[in-house]
Amino acid sequence: MSESDSQQQIAVVLPDGSELEVDADATVEDCAYEIGPGLGSDTVAGKLDGDLVAKEEPAYDGAELEIITDQSDEYLRVMRHSAAHCLAQAVERLYDAEEVKLAIGPPTDEGFYYDFDNLDVDEDDLADLEAEMEEIIEADYDIEREEVSIDEAEDRLADEPYKLELLEELAEEDETVTFYSQGEWEDLCAGPHVDSTGEIGAIELLEIAGAYWRGDEDNTMQTRIYGTAFEDESDLEDFLERKQEAEKRDHRRIGNEMDLFSIQDVTGPGLPLYHPAGKTVLKELEDFVETLNKEAGYDYVETPHVFKTDLWHRSGHYENYQDDMFIFDVGDDEFGLKPMNCPGHAAIFQDHSWSYRDLPIRYAENGKVYRKEQRGELSGLSRVWAFTIDDGHLFIRPDQIKREVEEIMDMITDVLETFDLDYEMALATRPEKSVGSDEIWERAEEQLESVLEAHGHEYEIEEGDGAFYGPKIDFAFEDAIGRSWDGPTVQLDFNMPERFDLNYVGEDNEEHRPVMIHRALYGSYERFFMMLIEHYEGRFPLWLAPEQVRVLPISDANLGYAYQVANEFDDFRVEVDDRDSTLERKIRAAHDDRVPYQIIVGDNEEEDGNISVRDRFEDQEYDVEIADFRAHLEAERDEQRTEPDFLQ
Ligand SMILES: [Zn+2]
Ligand SMILES: [Zn+2]
Repeated sequence: MSESDSQQQIAVVLPDGSELEVDADATVEDCAYEIGPGLGSDTVAGKLDGDLVAKEEPAYDGAELEIITDQSDEYLRVMRHSAAHCLAQAVERLYDAEEVKLAIGPPTDEGFYYDFDNLDVDEDDLADLEAEMEEIIEADYDIEREEVSIDEAEDRLADEPYKLELLEELAEEDETVTFYSQGEWEDLCAGPHVDSTGEIGAIELLEIAGAYWRGDEDNTMQTRIYGTAFEDESDLEDFLERKQEAEKRDHRRIGNEMDLFSIQDVTGPGLPLYHPAGKTVLKELEDFVETLNKEAGYDYVETPHVFKTDLWHRSGHYENYQDDMFIFDVGDDEFGLKPMNCPGHAAIFQDHSWSYRDLPIRYAENGKVYRKEQRGELSGLSRVWAFTIDDGHLFIRPDQIKREVEEIMDMITDVLETFDLDYEMALATRPEKSVGSDEIWERAEEQLESVLEAHGHEYEIEEGDGAFYGPKIDFAFEDAIGRSWDGPTVQLDFNMPERFDLNYVGEDNEEHRPVMIHRALYGSYERFFMMLIEHYEGRFPLWLAPEQVRVLPISDANLGYAYQVANEFDDFRVEVDDRDSTLERKIRAAHDDRVPYQIIVGDNEEEDGNISVRDRFEDQEYDVEIADFRAHLEAERDEQRTEPDFLQ
């Protein structure tokens, strides 16, 4: 580098939007010192254009720079990465370091993991590993970063085949790589890390699982150890409590107990089968959105599961989404399972000529889509290959954006409030790279903002976070145990109408492009169903419950009356427990099956022609008139009440 080059200045953009001029060779840490010496010495890491990097990384001209200190949200992530290193160091201390091969060990949203090959451990060994990690933390080793040449790195990693594979890829990009060391142990790693192992607060190892190298089932299955780390014991305790609560509600276990769905080896990974009880719940969810859709003037359409790939070329999915699609040949033609419903709906719109007076056109479909997620990532109903979207696509004039989005927002909030879900909203605006004119973007963003203002609920603006083809409103909601979920989205699209050459004839007799809106109220049924199972812990509100009422005869002598009573409720999902069993057992079974109401009938009830009613909170009332209970059930079902109030 010549003398004049090294004195060149670059400018980085700070979070408040201001620019900071620094030497061209300045690192993230140097930038922090430029801002202030206090910040300089507090710097743990940095973010360059949103990517978490080590403080030793050079800044570059025009980069958005954020300094990470121990006060930043990302600090936990940095510390957890260091905790993952402590785990690998502990493993190599306690097991045969020659035999065990290291794979990868990143931080995650909930903690960290490290993958090992040739490591023979089970859950009983975790306590010893944890104790060893605590010694490493106690020893407070400096965590040191070192930049080495590719050749040098190859020598150091001679016994680590997986690391060598990673190194090979890094060597294509750079001439040097970085190692982080602590005590006797080191790892090929880009960082960032905390300064010393003593900075790691409280740790806990959580579980052992199998994981394919690079998530590919053709590769070796390795041993993954999961753990987490927090700044102190009390944060860790809170996390473990929440985790236990989440496990109690795990939809896979409850789904199995309630016989809602299964995912079987013989039918394929990520391909859920809904059993009658599960489909009953799904059907109620479908009917609910169908009512909302019909009220809002949607027309139902239906498209097949598979299309010729010509369609995906036209929509752009083939170019951008091919790796996530199931594609196959039939004769000379190529076909693909649909990963999205939109192109099919655009094709339906395109098959007509429209006048401005016909718009808006609103299509709805419960459309099954297929996306090829990595097998290792598949989990219950939360990550699947096949799922159904309660999809809706609108084709509208630009002046109709406000009214239509308003309507959609009302539908979405109606859904979220029905399930007692608190929500947040955000408007994602135009990113740097985008299609569509300035005029249409400005007009669209203005209309979306005015809808959000009028809606009255707080919202955030996520500057530049929109899709390249249009701005969107994102919902996020919170479940009963405070977990946050990505919710429905209202997405404007200026691109697909272009690609499909969609037109309508305007008042001026000229052809115009409609704006397309993609919207879903639940998003995917699978994910929403999973969330509801966990949100309610399987105790669905009456209108959703697969079995709403169960009649329990006290003895076989009351069986006839039990059937007679069940008949009175035959517009509900009602069963009679006719097993030869004690009342106590029948009550427990109904409770385990999460049936909202039990009707108990014995000699007294039969004589008086009434019933006893017991709810799932174990409250019981005697001498209830059948008509009174009916009236209550109808109201609770039809109002979609979440909290029953009959016996409270
Ligand atoms: Zn690392
Ligand atoms: Zn769509």
